[in-house]
Amino acid sequence: MSATKLQAVRGMNDILPPESDWWEEFEERVRTWARAYGYRPIRTPIVEPTALFKRAIGEVTDIVEKEMYSFEDVLNGEHLTLRPEGTAGCVRAVIEHNLLFQGPQRLYYLGPMFRHERPQKGRYRQFHQVGIEALGFAGPDIDAELILMGARLWDELGLQDVRLEINSLGSSEERTAHRRALVEYFRARYDELDEDGKRRLERNPLRILDSKNPAMQELIEGAPRLLDFLGEESRVHFERVLALIEAAGVPYRINPRLVRGLDYYNRTVFEWVTPRLGAQATICAGGRYDGLIEQLGGRPAPAAGFAIGVERLLLLWQMSGGNVTPKVPDVYVVHQGERAEAVAFQLAERLRDLGLDVVLHCGGGSFKSQMKKADASGAALALILGEDEVDSGTVGLKPLRQEAPQQRVAIEACEDAVMQWLYGQEEGDGA
Ligand code: ATP
Ligand code: MG
Repeated sequence: MSATKLQAVRGMNDILPPESDWWEEFEERVRTWARAYGYRPIRTPIVEPTALFKRAIGEVTDIVEKEMYSFEDVLNGEHLTLRPEGTAGCVRAVIEHNLLFQGPQRLYYLGPMFRHERPQKGRYRQFHQVGIEALGFAGPDIDAELILMGARLWDELGLQDVRLEINSLGSSEERTAHRRALVEYFRARYDELDEDGKRRLERNPLRILDSKNPAMQELIEGAPRLLDFLGEESRVHFERVLALIEAAGVPYRINPRLVRGLDYYNRTVFEWVTPRLGAQATICAGGRYDGLIEQLGGRPAPAAGFAIGVERLLLLWQMSGGNVTPKVPDVYVVHQGERAEAVAFQLAERLRDLGLDVVLHCGGGSFKSQMKKADASGAALALILGEDEVDSGTVGLKPLRQEAPQQRVAIEACEDAVMQWLYGQEEGDGA
């Protein structure tokens, strides 16, 4: 038998302790934060019909053209794709289950996304997003709410050097007028376009503005600006968003070149960027996508949302001096002998009934080696059970984080004694 070494797929990471403690802490904070704004969780499948993404994201986008993990289900020939983002699936589910009949919906989700990109720091093939979607809201108020949400989360995490860039993509008519001007402009300078640019010129010229090719930047700088093509309604909407976030004290920079890599956006688009992560500068991106629900077969309804790149955010959190202390158990139970083992099992369960985190030593060994493990676990207390203790109906209690002698307490009094040690006088007497 040949034993080839099995490894994770390139660009797809295992998240191990203590790194995983950061993830859990972040996810807990995200749930609390989303709830604080009235957003409710939605869970959709990781695999969706390929057609969903083609229709939602757009055929001529980097994601659909070259980044999707698509495959044919060998059992029935269906064309499937590992989700490259969460909005399409969320909107599909909202339509499929008529959620908007009950009124507008504030939803959030959190999970893995898949894109076949060149792996590098902050860019992976399996990565994670937190998605926030507000469906059925037309006004600039919800756009502002989405931006304030981001600002609050960065603030709570103590993130440094995060800036908001914002733009308006207007309506589709306004984009058509702009597009015409854009095509004219680029046609007149066709030779200066790179290969991608030439390809995009006829099919999706707006995306040329999103090019990351440094050689194209000067050409792009001089291109007609969409902001100059906005009609009255779009302008008023955009100005109201800006007024609301300004009133909330969130600084921003209007970036007329901000177009986003997905086709479904209109009006407000924004990105939260940081200079600290090199080329992977965007930690969060989103905007309004009023046409998407209808485009996917639902009754027309406006919507807006954003997605946070979790890996990038965690990198920045760590760079900003974020501090996540791994959770340690309250109590580590050491024991020797079969009778003591049985008591130890019972005692550990009783302490867990009280809500404590308890590690029960497994695997035997001398008291000395067990106490070493107890110490290394970070637990505040060790409980010690041997033949002597069982015979006398007691348990040894040894504080591990401060100099204090080992005590012996009656087994019935053990829970009280442990609570006393962990939470002090007030809690014990309080009630
Ligand atoms: P980029 O321009 O960096 O490729 P994008 O415009 O493709 O980003 P979106 O589709 O808007 O990204 O996704 C929202 C966020 O998800 C991004 O701002 C980023 O933080 C994160 N993200 C996107 N692709 C990846 C990836 N391959 N690896 C890690 N994070 C990613
Ligand atoms: Mg991308």
